Amino acid sequence: MNLGVFGLGIIGRVWAENLHRDGEVVRGWNRTPKKDLPFFTADARSAAAASDLLLLVVADPPAVQEVLDRIAPVLRAGQVVVQSSTISPEATLRFAGQVEKTGASFLEAPFMGSRPAAEQRQMVFYAGGDSSVLERARPVLARLSRAIEYIGPLGSASALKLAMNINIAMVAQALCESRALARAAGISDDRYFSALKLNVGHSGLAALKEPKLRSGDITPQFSVKHMAKDLRLAAETAGGLDLPQLKEVMKLYADALARGWAEDDFISLTRLLALRPSAARKEGA
Ligand code: NAP
Repeated sequence: MNLGVFGLGIIGRVWAENLHRDGEVVRGWNRTPKKDLPFFTADARSAAAASDLLLLVVADPPAVQEVLDRIAPVLRAGQVVVQSSTISPEATLRFAGQVEKTGASFLEAPFMGSRPAAEQRQMVFYAGGDSSVLERARPVLARLSRAIEYIGPLGSASALKLAMNINIAMVAQALCESRALARAAGISDDRYFSALKLNVGHSGLAALKEPKLRSGDITPQFSVKHMAKDLRLAAETAGGLDLPQLKEVMKLYADALARGWAEDDFISLTRLLALRPSAARKEGA
């Protein structure tokens, strides 16, 4: 199978490298040229024309639109477009229509897992759409992942992905606030994390982010700007559903973006706790 990876950012680059290492024929396209990568192809349209399966993993709905507008003229029956960027159910349906009009098949396959999971081929994909299209994509997705969950019709996988990310953003904030309290009480990070591991509040997220929280490492596995985007898409998708904590967490992400932290890892929002004036101080001011 000829494979195309569109978007060679944190995740797309690792996926393309792994598939290339497996001996697959991979063409990788990125808006900003990545000439250091052996599979980089400067022309999106020729990469699309030569691919049986196309993986899209770019920033957001406008980015997916830009990629599809470039490649749609050469899409045709027999090809499968797998859209893995985190976008809304509404945008998913729109893009599926654009792709299917060309004769090509469309699958939504957003995923859980950040850079380390990508490197270790431990992604979890949520697939939405026609299950027979998933079966055509499965051998490729299986090389990148530890699980592929079929969720349901188009849009359902994107909705689930957004639901998972609001949980992660809130768990991250709870972890940061909990550690801030412990630190303020003079409790060391060694004591804090060893105690956390012994109670039900310990999470996969705490295990993943403990080294970053201890060292203050802000290099991105998953960036502030993408979590902020996901929270916004989740709020749009929620429509009239009242999700009060989501609104509060979105304010923190807006603050982080205003401080220029867009490219930093989302756990680095812990810095806000040291920067923001406390309620007590505000009252006294
Ligand atoms: P990233 O490192 O920020 O890469 C974003 C990619 O999108 C880059 O290739 C960028 O190209 C491209 N892009 C942005 N705007 C574009 C446009 N208008 N037209 C064409 N290409 C455009 O992002 P990432 O972390 O790999 O994430 C990619 C997607 O996966 C996002 O939807 C994210 O929410 C989702 N996701 C990420 C993770 C994670 O942990 N990293 C986990 C789950 C889901 P340039 O290089 O030219 O800017």
